Amino acid sequence: MKRYGLYIDGRETPAPREMESINPYTGKVWAVVPDGTEADMDTAVAAARRAFDDGPWGKMTATQRGALMRKLGDIIARDAEELARIECADNGKLYREMLGQWKYIPEYFYYYSGMADKLQGDVVPSDRPNFFIYTRREPIGVVGAITPWNSPGLLLVFKLAPGLAAGCTFVVKPSEHTPVSTLELGKRFEEAGFPPGVYNVVTGQGAIGAHLVKHPGIDKLAFTGATSTGKRIAASAAENLTRVSLELGGKSPNIVFEDADIDVAANGAIAGIFGASGQTCMAGSRLLVQESVHDALLQRIVERTRQIRLGDPLDEATEMGPVANEPQFKKVLEYIDIAKADGAQVCYGGQGDPTLGGYFVQPTVLAGVDNAMRIAQEEVFGPILSVIKFKDEADAIRIANDTRFGLAAAVWTQNVHRAHRVAHQLRAGTVWINAYRVVSFATPFGGFKESGLGRENGTDSIREYTETKSVYVELTGEPRDPFKL
Ligand code: NAD
Repeated sequence: MKRYGLYIDGRETPAPREMESINPYTGKVWAVVPDGTEADMDTAVAAARRAFDDGPWGKMTATQRGALMRKLGDIIARDAEELARIECADNGKLYREMLGQWKYIPEYFYYYSGMADKLQGDVVPSDRPNFFIYTRREPIGVVGAITPWNSPGLLLVFKLAPGLAAGCTFVVKPSEHTPVSTLELGKRFEEAGFPPGVYNVVTGQGAIGAHLVKHPGIDKLAFTGATSTGKRIAASAAENLTRVSLELGGKSPNIVFEDADIDVAANGAIAGIFGASGQTCMAGSRLLVQESVHDALLQRIVERTRQIRLGDPLDEATEMGPVANEPQFKKVLEYIDIAKADGAQVCYGGQGDPTLGGYFVQPTVLAGVDNAMRIAQEEVFGPILSVIKFKDEADAIRIANDTRFGLAAAVWTQNVHRAHRVAHQLRAGTVWINAYRVVSFATPFGGFKESGLGRENGTDSIREYTETKSVYVELTGEPRDPFKL
């Protein structure tokens, strides 16, 4: 059993209260972590504030910050296997997926480390006589980061890498279901040589996240999680006008036209919904299929779904692990019942898998789904594919956009004109053409509509962590008319 303290001001601090982290595959407690209090959060924010306002971090050059980030990247690369195993124990995802993520995470630090010392302002071509005007890009300040349970490390690094490059300090509140990898990073920050207070972690329930959001000591809040939570956070942050970026839920359409390669599209549909047991914000949970190829595609998908190997997330042969926790397990099964009651037909799966124990849900394929049904409109966050028929291109675009979400979408076609034409009309932050579920540190990621606010990754996301300051320099030294603009 592993036992952790809070990570505040560069050291592990014992916590007055504790909570357990359960391995969803075994159903057993595998780690004990702090159940942080509001007072712990206040201490962490004060540490991050000090580090930002007065500490050595603020005095470092951007080049020095970049060098520390590269060191951190190297340490994470060295420890990728250990960190991947930790996340598997915490959330039940496949080792092969989590290892892939942890091996990719260093690239975020390398990419943004190179940006740290290129964050330059502009010299403004001045319209005011005798003024030299320039802008500075300054770090936004102390960042509160709140993260979900499905990819705790990766989604944290989406925020940390650009934020550290900009010169911010952090207080992180990871999900109560998957707190361990975030705590584990603390000692790696130390090893890399980051000054105390740059990275602080307070684990605990949603309530201490709420305390962080309205804390006057933070300047920006970066959140990934459910749309309902994101709305509450945006409202609460508005009281102090704390800046927010939100990465929220999705109900993404995966659109297959009759001119697609049906075998490749079937494979993409499986990757889109059963990868990570459907627990990704970008899951392709609505499969929109043109009528003429509907039956052929459905048959291929059911055949492949039948072969999906459920089992131990640490086993290299396993293709789908359990869902991550008990509330999620219950929610997924409830949605299958709702879909059936609304008239959807279960073509495969449709229940929990008691033979495996833990929180396994069979990969489930539902046909005859109408886009107005709850199963097509509400995010399930589990391995449930809803198959919806469409007639023609206009019909596909109408159904695809008939959702309050707008995170991702995919188009499967061999017609290059159609591929781009449809991609341009989809109201989503990411569109894949003949692919699904690919992300890159160099490419902006985020949502239209209720899927979020702002973008992570890519060069622009560093703007989320900076303020622009304009500096006017008077060049004559002569007094000016005080009453004239
Ligand atoms: P959640 O909203 O329940 O919790 C996310 C985090 O917010 C947790 O740390 C939780 O403790 C905290 N929290 C809960 N209530 C809070 C409050 N009132 N104030 C402040 N913090 C609070 O989400 P989840 O169930 O952990 O994660 C699943 C959701 O995350 C899904 O909706 C999924 O689509 C979304 N998600 C989005 C992305 C993206 O990049 N768009 C990526 C992954 C997951």
